[in-house]
Amino acid sequence: MNRPAPSSSSSRSADPRGAGGSRATSGVAAALRALDVRPSRKLGQNFLTDPRVAERIAGVALAGAPAAVGGAAGVGVAAGVVETPGALLEIGPGLGALTERLAATGRPLVAVELDLRLAERVETLLRPHSHARVVRGDILDQRLAALLPGSGPVTVVANLPYAITSPAISWILEQGPRVERAVLMTQREVAQRLAAKPGSKDYGSFSVFVALHAELQVEFRVSPAAFHPRPDVDSVVFTLRPRPYPRTTAEERARVERLVRAATSGRRKTLANSLGHGLEMGAARARALLDRAEVDPGRRAETLSVEEWLAVARVGGGNA
Ligand code: SAM
Repeated sequence: MNRPAPSSSSSRSADPRGAGGSRATSGVAAALRALDVRPSRKLGQNFLTDPRVAERIAGVALAGAPAAVGGAAGVGVAAGVVETPGALLEIGPGLGALTERLAATGRPLVAVELDLRLAERVETLLRPHSHARVVRGDILDQRLAALLPGSGPVTVVANLPYAITSPAISWILEQGPRVERAVLMTQREVAQRLAAKPGSKDYGSFSVFVALHAELQVEFRVSPAAFHPRPDVDSVVFTLRPRPYPRTTAEERARVERLVRAATSGRRKTLANSLGHGLEMGAARARALLDRAEVDPGRRAETLSVEEWLAVARVGGGNA
């Protein structure tokens, strides 16, 4: 699916020199040097250096999750064990700041890492944990069913690489009801867009898409000093809880996405004009559609709530 990206001009890897000073930072820098890894902006490599932040993220991710069946020794994802209650999926483990804490729970864990040198290091870290494994590759090319066979619930955990923030969130929300929640860290501006309410300056098509699929709860803010290299913006940790279906059908969600794209693609100010143009139906027919959904055609697209978009999608049927 073609997703609208949260627009931004800055990335978290703005200062490749790092925070400097703290022992944890120099430890991370030394570990990267030993692996011959120069933090890559393209791969969004801003590594967590503050163990207290890693502890808090793991705490949010693990709170209330069901325990592993049989404990650490009794569950083996590498062997393709079918039962995976409370399984964990980490996107981009990097040097393993979160990974070791997740593995220590004994729950099935899969960590997907694109950088092969880091993947090898995490594999070494995970060797004592038979229930945990590393998959080398791009998370966007994976299928949850292949990573964690079975039907048990999955919690996704990630300090998300900036370059794939939007597609990774889309990927998570498209994996279906097995994803119980996702505890994610992104740069603050992205989180603000995702949490934005209709009519606010940050509200846009990606906010609608996320609200359509999940509830979002902001957990806490993280200072740039917690990373190496040090970014020039704050980050935010938040939880996404995919909404239980069938509150909406897949067809309705697809229609809402089509409508929002059509309404926000041009520069027209009123909904009637932007939808009429975007859906190639003309302003008069768009006005009639909006009237039937009891949405004022003179409003701007960015003020509509998810419920209002759904109402338009439902009255529009195949035309919406
Ligand atoms: N989790 C680590 C931490 O908190 O210190 C590293 C986080 S760093 C922001 C993002 C990580 O994602 C890096 O290790 C990077 O190599 C990896 N990565 C980037 N793009 C990826 C992709 N498409 N699929 C999987 N991993 C990716």
